[in-house]
Amino acid sequence: MLKKCFFSIILLTSVFLFSGGIVSGVVLDECGNPITARVIAVAPERSFLVTAYTDWSGRFSLELSEGLYTLEISKGLEYERLSLKVPVREGEERSFEIVLKRLINLSALGWFPGDTHLHTVHSDGKDDPELLALACTANGLSWAVLSDHNTLSGGEKWLSFRDKLLTILGQEVTTRLGHVNAIGIRELVPWDVKRREDLLEIFELIRKQGGVSQINHPFDTKSPLRNFKELDLEAYDLIEIWNGGSPPNIEGFGNLEAKLFWFDLLNRGRKVFASAGSDCHDVHNVYSSLAFAPTPLFMWALRTRIRDPKVLERARENEKLLKEWVRYGLYPGYPRVYVKVNTLTEEEVLRALREGRSFLTNGPLLLVELNGRGPGETVRLRDNEPALLKVNLFSNVPVSRLRVIQSGNEVASLELKGWEASSWQLSLKPKDGDWVVVEAFGDFPVYAITNPIFLKVE
Ligand SMILES: [Zn+2]
Ligand SMILES: [Zn+2]
Repeated sequence: MLKKCFFSIILLTSVFLFSGGIVSGVVLDECGNPITARVIAVAPERSFLVTAYTDWSGRFSLELSEGLYTLEISKGLEYERLSLKVPVREGEERSFEIVLKRLINLSALGWFPGDTHLHTVHSDGKDDPELLALACTANGLSWAVLSDHNTLSGGEKWLSFRDKLLTILGQEVTTRLGHVNAIGIRELVPWDVKRREDLLEIFELIRKQGGVSQINHPFDTKSPLRNFKELDLEAYDLIEIWNGGSPPNIEGFGNLEAKLFWFDLLNRGRKVFASAGSDCHDVHNVYSSLAFAPTPLFMWALRTRIRDPKVLERARENEKLLKEWVRYGLYPGYPRVYVKVNTLTEEEVLRALREGRSFLTNGPLLLVELNGRGPGETVRLRDNEPALLKVNLFSNVPVSRLRVIQSGNEVASLELKGWEASSWQLSLKPKDGDWVVVEAFGDFPVYAITNPIFLKVE
């Protein structure tokens, strides 16, 4: 039987004896079922932002001082993003029934979003595994990897939420040379690493457990993989070209360097796939508040986090972009990896990651096919046979540009207006050994990139 559907926001106001006010409510899907969601309260006149989550039954409650707030309610990339103006008055509780519309359902097409890189109090994170699992679902994720530094102690608790989220256990193997994610393991991997050979052994130990190895933030400004280029490692499965702890596509912060290095690897014929992880240590993301702070305060806060003077100088040059990036969010699933699977199981997610059947995004949903083959796959062509690239794009935030990269070079670019679903077709001139990647750009830091489709011309 169909349940009654709600399309309205119902406001209930009541008088409450409390110093300050309360904003509370419940978030529902279109059929009236409670869903988890993220709720942000912004008071721009006071440079102030609070991140909250509903509980498992969709309820939230925020105690706020007086003022006019903007409430932003969201659930990842496939739902609409709602924004409400809410005046908060002393002694009042304002309660909302909020219906979030699902705009698209990629799971119905076999695409499931997840995060490969997350921390809890079991290492240096702020949250316990339950709050992290809740925040993952509230940000619209279907699967997520716990990757605390050199411990699996949060694992039992983490895996107990499998009825709500496909929780996968991992370890951020934190070594003196750099960080490697062991995704989908059950036993700790040793981290006493001195030489290149020790790293190769780590990849092998992860593989023996049926796990996936991922080089984390190789060009990060704080914990890079030391001498990564010279190490010439081959045996890992994934390279994290987009770590949520740094902005994407700006020179000097590590992610752009990792992407360009990965392009270079692909050009050298290595079949290495790209990955992304939020590296979230705090689901409430206190740093987002900085986006509203005046510039001197923002720069002071950056100085306390960035020790390298060269990086700090780049931060000064890019202050506006950095503020937008921080404001956009450092939450679980920003960025996220969408994997293509038949059924949502740990085994299938690991296989899709390992085989590159995935795209990385913090907004645009980017489905790409070349002669019917998707990311990670190889298209076989006879000489002079055409290669037709089809791009289907959907986004709940504006997207302004699509870019097609063939073997490291831009071969096409399309300016887009707005953010509605759009389709696009393009013929490519293929050469044997080429690879094709598609990128989507919106207002900074909105971005998506696919894994490559390979071309074999016979
Ligand atoms: Zn790390
Ligand atoms: Zn980490």
